[in-house]
Amino acid sequence: MYTYDILRDDISYLGYNGAETGSIGSSVLEKNIFYVRIGDGDDKIIITGGIHARENVTCLLVMRQAFALMGEKIPFSIYFVPMIDPDGAALIEKGASAAGKYGEFVRKINGSEDFSLWKANIRGVDLNVNFDAKFGQGKRNVRYPSPQDYIGEYPFSEPETAALRDFTREIKPIFTISYHALGREVYWDFGQNSEKDRIFAHSVANFLGYVAVDGDLSSAGGYKDWCVLNGITALTIEIGKSSLAHPVSAVEAEEDIKLNLDLPRKAYELYNKAFL
Ligand SMILES: [Zn+2]
Repeated sequence: MYTYDILRDDISYLGYNGAETGSIGSSVLEKNIFYVRIGDGDDKIIITGGIHARENVTCLLVMRQAFALMGEKIPFSIYFVPMIDPDGAALIEKGASAAGKYGEFVRKINGSEDFSLWKANIRGVDLNVNFDAKFGQGKRNVRYPSPQDYIGEYPFSEPETAALRDFTREIKPIFTISYHALGREVYWDFGQNSEKDRIFAHSVANFLGYVAVDGDLSSAGGYKDWCVLNGITALTIEIGKSSLAHPVSAVEAEEDIKLNLDLPRKAYELYNKAFL
């Protein structure tokens, strides 16, 4: 898997080679939530991965994009935030011993020592339902700590979601892309009735050979949802054939990684076309 230690080394490498790098904040267990900026220019976009622990392959994808674009002439700024849930990633990698004082807690709510399907942060909050966007109104939401779907006590109760909110407010991106697995779908609709957003999502989906989903309003509390509510165009891209099962391995995702490698540049071009 693409571990926190590998990520830290890769971030150092990119920083050493001239990219702006840093941390948008810390996780519950005080790990860095790293970012790397590639390109410069006033237009900014944010690309995130790994908000769901078991979708670790999206961390790899986002970093592969950063490496592919490093050294290229990019006329806009791409802020890659590859691992929003570093504690969840460590839990999957090392088991409950990586959970510090939450060790007993995660064992109990998981019901086994196998954490390979864990989605949440280390407090059992699903970070992608913890944003302030129709909070608690999602179809699958639950109201108790769990390996997935728990909304948390209140919006932005978790340091990881608060950090991403604050970073987004600071950067003011023209659009954001959140990577998830799986299904080869592009989500954009949060009831905003924007023809431009719709065209953008469909053109991105066409480029990838994925399906853009209109009118699915079953999600709530996600990063994409919160962006849309705050006037920022936002896509959730689900990589990986729907025939795959979680957790998707790097080998299984290789075709999708290749398809998405140049997406940051392509998406910027398609955004400008849609928003002309
Ligand atoms: Zn996900």
